[in-house]
Amino acid sequence: MSSWTKIAGHPVSPGQVSLVGVPWDEGSSFLQGPVRAPGHIRAALFSPSSNSSTESGLELADEARLRDVGDLEVPAGAAAVAAIEAGIGALLDAGASVLALGGDHAITYPILRAHAGRRERVSILHFDAHPDLYDEFAGNRFSHASPFARIMEAGLATRLVQVGIRTMNAHQREQARRFDVEVIEMRSFSPDLTLRFDGPVYVTIDLDALDPAFAPGVSHHEPGGLSTREVIGVLQRLRGRVIGADVVELNPERDPTEVTAMVAAKLVKELLARILADGS
Ligand code: MN
Ligand code: MN
Repeated sequence: MSSWTKIAGHPVSPGQVSLVGVPWDEGSSFLQGPVRAPGHIRAALFSPSSNSSTESGLELADEARLRDVGDLEVPAGAAAVAAIEAGIGALLDAGASVLALGGDHAITYPILRAHAGRRERVSILHFDAHPDLYDEFAGNRFSHASPFARIMEAGLATRLVQVGIRTMNAHQREQARRFDVEVIEMRSFSPDLTLRFDGPVYVTIDLDALDPAFAPGVSHHEPGGLSTREVIGVLQRLRGRVIGADVVELNPERDPTEVTAMVAAKLVKELLARILADGS
């Protein structure tokens, strides 16, 4: 039985992958809770109920390149966006790739801002029930319903591919056209979907992309979604180079059995397998 809890406590150096918590949920429009998610995902990830093997055979416990660097300190209020950008930027400046544990989906905009200028421009593969393309939501331009409007209007990505969408309204359909978003709506999703990307890919997984039967511990239950296996399959078949990722929107308040935290941890493991195999 191998424990792999001892990956923290080392300085960040080039070629490493940093696992970092981003505890911020002030962008949430309906319920709070994701601010407490990173600790729950870590507990599931390092739980002796499973092991450190990924499905491709990589042993994460043996991976000297993997470091849990703890959580960013995120201040309350308007300073949060800049603090997240600076915190992720410091890891990138040290030469690491980043896998971030949210937090709500509002964290993805400052994370992509940090990548811009420090890394080659990325394509984004985005799993979600929602397109998150609102120009603003309830007056908030940094809402978790808006990160991909901010990212695309700032030109932070060459391409945005969304998978699992099932809540498109007229405004967001217009935004998707405006930004040339490639939307694979749930109603036309095929379980053998194989995506090809030229250049680096950033993967962002909103856990509500999954059906609430698989991932009930989220703020916005949207039935008719992806299975855990379908998300893993799309990741494993993806043709391209995954250079960074986030897993967001776990709400521990709605996850009393911790099953959604375990789903998040499983997706983190498969994402780490991709990042470690693809290089940075
Ligand atoms: Mn969502
Ligand atoms: Mn989202």
